[in-house]
Amino acid sequence: MLEKLLIICCHFDYHPKTRLVDVKMGFGPSGKIEKVECQICKKVYIRDNKGINLKIVLIVILLFFLFMLLF
Ligand SMILES: [Zn+2]
Repeated sequence: MLEKLLIICCHFDYHPKTRLVDVKMGFGPSGKIEKVECQICKKVYIRDNKGINLKIVLIVILLFFLFMLLF
C-alpha cells in the first residue's frame, strides 16, 4: 500500500526514496551537480537543490489523507 503511494509521488515528479549515483563539479554558484536514482521508479535525474516544490508536497499530503480515508 505504501509502495503504491510512493509511485504516485513519483508520478508527480517527487521522488521520496533516492540513491546518489554520481557527483560532478558544476560551474557558477550552483556548485556541484548531484545525479540521483529513484529507488521506486528507477528514474535517474539531476537533483535540484533550489528547494522542494511546496505545491507537490501539499498534493502528496492530500493524497495520503485520501488514502487513509479510503482504506
Ligand atoms: Zn521515483
